[in-house]
Amino acid sequence: MTQLFDLSGRTALVTGSARGIGFALAEGLAAAGANVILNGTRADTVAEAVARLSDKGFNAQGRAFDVTDESAVAEAFAQWDKDGVPVDIVVNNAGIQFRKPLVELELSDWQRVIDTNLTSAFIVAKQAARRMIARGTGGKIINIGSLTSEAGRATVGAYTAAKGGIKMLTRAMSAEWAASDIQANAIGPGYILTDMNKPLIENAAFDAWVKSSNPSQRWGKPEELVGTAVYLASPASSYVNGQIIYVDGGWLAVL
Ligand code: NDP
Repeated sequence: MTQLFDLSGRTALVTGSARGIGFALAEGLAAAGANVILNGTRADTVAEAVARLSDKGFNAQGRAFDVTDESAVAEAFAQWDKDGVPVDIVVNNAGIQFRKPLVELELSDWQRVIDTNLTSAFIVAKQAARRMIARGTGGKIINIGSLTSEAGRATVGAYTAAKGGIKMLTRAMSAEWAASDIQANAIGPGYILTDMNKPLIENAAFDAWVKSSNPSQRWGKPEELVGTAVYLASPASSYVNGQIIYVDGGWLAVL
């Protein structure tokens, strides 16, 4: 039974894992036995996050790169090839938010949000899946969606388009890669207590709305996403493909 969720001997890359949800997922995958590779845009904060996991006895390494930069991503994978590090599990977690009504949104800001939240998942998974297919060992792709993969919300149009795209990109990945024993799935977190939501958490009206609109009547914590991530990274999900699992306290259930 425990082997179902055992990640021993597997290597997991979690993008955007210097903090927030990504860090919690990296720690959770490491606790399930995986060797983890942390990532973010800054070498110093990535190194600090690696040290926090190493201090707990986990096998962690880090590499700072911008997930929207195709050549930087290709270089990272080429280096792991040289080092004999096979990436078996990818969590496409790196993301940004930018709030502005659509009629005021500049194209450059739209593009930045789409690139970081959607195009990056294609860029990173493409490098990983090519290698998984060549090795013939299968693999796991876990894309991080959102409630906005399902529901529109005002002032986050580009983010909503990107996260809706994540849901369908996950299905496209399944269509092409399932035959190579690669399971591509997504997680759709609800409102979670992280830096990304700091302005919302500090806004009393928004905080009250999150609590009143959710049957759980509270925000979620990053570590509450770990169980789903371990499941989707493990042999337990070997015939699960193209799904998005919402971990939202029930928010979508009562929409
Ligand atoms: P945070 O803002 O707390 O952390 C974001 C992480 O992504 C940081 O480590 C950041 O790196 C990294 N990142 C951002 N841009 C890039 C880039 N171009 N290249 C590499 N790394 C990058 O966000 P959360 O933890 O809240 O969010 C994580 C994911 O979960 C995102 O995809 C988000 O959309 C999604 N999500 C979050 C929800 C929430 O309520 N918090 C709800 C639903 C989905 P650095 O530290 O260097 O800045």
